[in-house]
Amino acid sequence: MKKRILVTGGAGFIGSHLCERLLKEGNEVICMDNYFTGCKDNVIHLMDNPYFELIRHDVTHPYFVEVDQIYNLACPASPVHYQYNSIKTIKTSVMGAINMLGLAKRINARILQASTSEVYGDPLVHPQQEDYWGNVNPIGIRSCYDEGKRCAESLFVNYHEQNGVDIRIIRIFNTYGPRMNPNDGRVVSNFIVQALKGKDITIFGDGKQTRSFQYVDDLVEGMIRMMNTDNFIGPVNIGNPNEFTMLELAQAVIDLTNSNSKVTYMPLPADDPLQRQPDITLAKEKLNNWEPNVQLKEGLTHTINYFDELLKREEA
Ligand code: NAD
Ligand code: UDP
Repeated sequence: MKKRILVTGGAGFIGSHLCERLLKEGNEVICMDNYFTGCKDNVIHLMDNPYFELIRHDVTHPYFVEVDQIYNLACPASPVHYQYNSIKTIKTSVMGAINMLGLAKRINARILQASTSEVYGDPLVHPQQEDYWGNVNPIGIRSCYDEGKRCAESLFVNYHEQNGVDIRIIRIFNTYGPRMNPNDGRVVSNFIVQALKGKDITIFGDGKQTRSFQYVDDLVEGMIRMMNTDNFIGPVNIGNPNEFTMLELAQAVIDLTNSNSKVTYMPLPADDPLQRQPDITLAKEKLNNWEPNVQLKEGLTHTINYFDELLKREEA
C-alpha cells in the first residue's frame, strides 16, 4: 500500500538511495535536508517524480507534516564532518531526535532511527552483538557523534515506553557506495579518489585496524525490512560481517583501479576503533533472513565507476 514517508537527511549518501528505493516501490517521499553534507545533486534525478518533494529544513528546528513513516537519518556521518562543528552534531542527533519523535507521537507515525556501530565505541567484545553496551570515551573527539547517537537511542526507547511511540532502531556499520561525498574523509571514498588520481593512498596508523564494509543497497534493503517488521523495535545491527584491514582495502582499491598509487602512512586519529565487525544473527532472525548480498569487490567496482565519472565531469 502506498505510504507517505519523511526521510530526514534524505539528500545525503544513504538518504538519497533510500528515497530512490521508496519511490520505486510506489510511495510518496518527502526528503528533508539542510545540505550540510548532502546536496541537491544526489536527488536531482528524482525531481521529475511528482511523488517526490525536497524541503530545505534543519532537523534541530521543529517541523510538521502528515506522514505514515519517518526515517531519521539527518546527521553528518564522517569524522571530518561531524567534528567540524561538534556542538551542532550533538544538537542534530539529540534535538533532531526530540523533534522527530515529537512529530511521530503527534501524527501517530512509525519512526526509524539510523543509529550506528559507533555506539559500541572501540569495542572490547568481538564481533559486536546488540546486547553489548560499548566502550565509548565520553569526552573524546568522536564523542559528539557517538554520545549524540547513544542519547538518540535512549530518547527513542523512552518515547516508546512512556508515550507509546512506534519506534525502530538500526545500528548501521560502515557503509559505502555511489554518492558518498568525495571530500568527507571516509576511508573508501578517500582511497578510491586517491587511486583514481594516482596520488598516495593515506593509511592512518599501521593499517591493521579492521572495518566491515557494507554496500549501500544491502543497507537500504535491511532498513526497509526493519521499518515494515511488526513486533520488533530493535536495536538491530545492519552490516556486512566480512572484515578487512585498511591495508587489505587499499590493495583491493589499487588492484581494481589498476592504479600506480603507493601507500603512505599517517598518524592514527585519537580514539580510532581497532576492530569492528557486526554480529547479524538477530537481523537474519527478525528480518526474514536478511543478509548482505554484495561483497567488497563488486561493491567497490560500482563505487569506483561512480567516482571515475564524477572526476571526469569535474575535469571537463
Ligand atoms: P551523509 O553525511 O551523506 O548524510 C547525512 C545527511 O544529513 C546529509 O544530507 C546532511 O546534509 C543532512 N543533515 C546533517 N545535519 C542536518 C540537520 N541538522 N538538519 C537536516 N539535515 C541534516 O551521511 P550518510 O552516510 O548518508 O549517513 C546517513 C545516516 O546514517 C546518518 O545518521 C549516519 O549517522 C548514519 N550512519 C551512516 C553510516 C555510514 O557508514 N555511512 C554508518 C553508521 C550510521
Ligand atoms: N582511514 C585511513 N585512511 C584514510 C581515512 C581513514 O586509514 O584516508 C582509516 C581510519 O583511521 C579508520 C578507518 O580507516 O581506522 C575507517 O575510517 P572512516 O572514517 O571511514 O570510518 P570510521 O572510523 O568512522 O569507522
